Amino acid sequence: MKQLLVLVADGMGDWPLEALGNKTPLEAAHTPNMDFLAANGCMGTCQTVPEGMQPGSDVANMALLGYAPETYHTGRGPIEAAAQGLELDPDDLVWRLNLVTVSGYDHQATMLDYSAGHMDTKVAREIITHLQDQLGDATFTFYPGIQYRHLLVQKKGRTAPEAGLSINPPHDITDQPIAADLGAYASSTRLMNLLTRARELMAPWSNRCAANAIWPWGQGTPLMLPGFESTFGPRGGIISAVDLVKGLGRAAGMEVMEIPGATGFLDTNYQGKVDAARMFLDQGDYVYLHVEAPDECGHMGDPAKKIQAIEDFDAKVLGPLLQSHGQRDMLWVLTCDHFTPIARRTHTTDPVPFVIHSAGITPSHHSTRFDEAQAARTGLLLDGGPTLMATILDWAGWKA
Ligand SMILES: [Zn+2]
Repeated sequence: MKQLLVLVADGMGDWPLEALGNKTPLEAAHTPNMDFLAANGCMGTCQTVPEGMQPGSDVANMALLGYAPETYHTGRGPIEAAAQGLELDPDDLVWRLNLVTVSGYDHQATMLDYSAGHMDTKVAREIITHLQDQLGDATFTFYPGIQYRHLLVQKKGRTAPEAGLSINPPHDITDQPIAADLGAYASSTRLMNLLTRARELMAPWSNRCAANAIWPWGQGTPLMLPGFESTFGPRGGIISAVDLVKGLGRAAGMEVMEIPGATGFLDTNYQGKVDAARMFLDQGDYVYLHVEAPDECGHMGDPAKKIQAIEDFDAKVLGPLLQSHGQRDMLWVLTCDHFTPIARRTHTTDPVPFVIHSAGITPSHHSTRFDEAQAARTGLLLDGGPTLMATILDWAGWKA
């Protein structure tokens, strides 16, 4: 049985851009290590986001970990609650809560920034703590997280009307009207009251950050995943800066490694992630190493930054790992969870490119580069994350 190393560049997939001479950022980027895997591996595409589901990182990473989102996905909030190790009742409703920048709460209001300028965690924690002091009650509890990403737990919310509300993920509606969402919030008096009061209570922070509203979304009942090792065989570890990816790992009983200085952006601690992967592979079987920066650059709509995020992934993650572990008899997977096209500044459901590399795998094609078009050209399209998982387990000699 071979060890498995799964490398995931969040939101790396993209569409051709005129500004890049009709290349995608991945095609335009200088990625010698990814291209080495492409030339020496089996490339294809995988439909990580099932038809009819939202192309979120929660759904797509769950799929890449081998769990069918159609069966196990209850919402984004519950996954992040699992990351924080919150004690929850099965009847709770867990919301992801963003601190955001809106233009107002009037009919013409728009979502100016889903991340409140990638706000500072310390300031955000002050705000969330204050909101909990002032607004927390027997029904609602605020839990602080990282930067703009927090949680709201609604006691006994499983059967409450709020459970069925359809709220747009804020990163999907940058610069777009929020009237429909405000209408949905307003169908619940207590929820709308929470939003209105929060706006007032946040006013004193207006000179220290861009956050001026809360945005609860992605609500669902607590996440229940069957154990990774008992389901698939390998003992697994997860490396990520992002709560939702860590939450998936924790819910699956994997070892979740804390990396000091992992930010989820271009300034993340790449070396720390590489070191953690090496350390885990000294005794474990499976590492899922996730880097968030390409996705964030896609949301920013910045081709140059996205190319940099991809080149950093190649040079600072994949390259060093190939240096230290390239000669070992293990199985390598390089992929992304979903597309975050610059042109759309949000996620799409396109099948993602992947490459599987290991001694004994005959390259199924003659590609020299790892990119969206070359992966699609192989004609290999897997119907979901669980199929990709079954394939790599099989090729690595594990029987699921
Ligand atoms: Zn993602």
